[in-house]
Amino acid sequence: SIEMQGLHKRFGADTVALDGVDLTIEAGEFFTLLGPSGCGKTTLLRILAGLEDADAGELSIGGRTITEVPPHQRSVNTVFQSYALFPHLSVRDNLAFGLKMRGLPAAERDARVARIAEFIKLGDLVDRRVEQLSGGQRQRIALARALVNEPDVLLLDEPLSALDAGLRSQLQVELLRVQKRLGMTFVFVTHDQQEAMVMSDRIAVLNGGIIQQVGPPRDVYERPVNAFVARFMGHDN
Ligand code: ATP
Repeated sequence: SIEMQGLHKRFGADTVALDGVDLTIEAGEFFTLLGPSGCGKTTLLRILAGLEDADAGELSIGGRTITEVPPHQRSVNTVFQSYALFPHLSVRDNLAFGLKMRGLPAAERDARVARIAEFIKLGDLVDRRVEQLSGGQRQRIALARALVNEPDVLLLDEPLSALDAGLRSQLQVELLRVQKRLGMTFVFVTHDQQEAMVMSDRIAVLNGGIIQQVGPPRDVYERPVNAFVARFMGHDN
């Protein structure tokens, strides 16, 4: 599991991004951080990824305090909204890039890339350059590139927000299938309550760097603990 206790993070003198976050995410969960723009979702994800340090608080992943574990040993991978792919390289080379950096031999790299390409059904996309692909295709490659590292935890920062509605629901189904089949922990960030409702085992609603409520989406929807959660879950529509 991922355990957070009293996480605080500020930027400069007066931006409080996280104002005391206590949260436990269980292994194998599809967990969603939900909240409006600026509520601290990305900051929390970046701290989990090791891209940012908290000012105060405790964080452990799989029973190890995170400060003891350098980012590349955390078995945590991130899928960004911006894809972060190399446009001029082939899909195959994009998928193999991180494995090569980690020193995996060529045969092992090829086997892993083939396995993931089969699983995500990339077909002949693997031999195309990323710059020749659509947004939806790039998003699937970004997911494949994270999965090829076989992390225990996958962090996903609004991975579907740039896509049109049809493609979006198609990829929602795909993400859920991947997560359940591989039994990985997904920490998913979105500001879309509908998306959170259909995807998640549990959600945390954030506002102003504070967790307002945590629970299965149906419970949060049916029994909001305050006016903010009620409004954000769509009760005034
Ligand atoms: P969005 O949905 O718009 O991405 P978010 O919920 O992910 O928003 P964060 O990106 O975590 O929100 O930002 C939380 C607060 O911290 C915001 O007020 C933001 O402006 C501020 N912030 C985030 N990163 C930095 C930074 N590097 N420097 C200064 N302020 C920052």
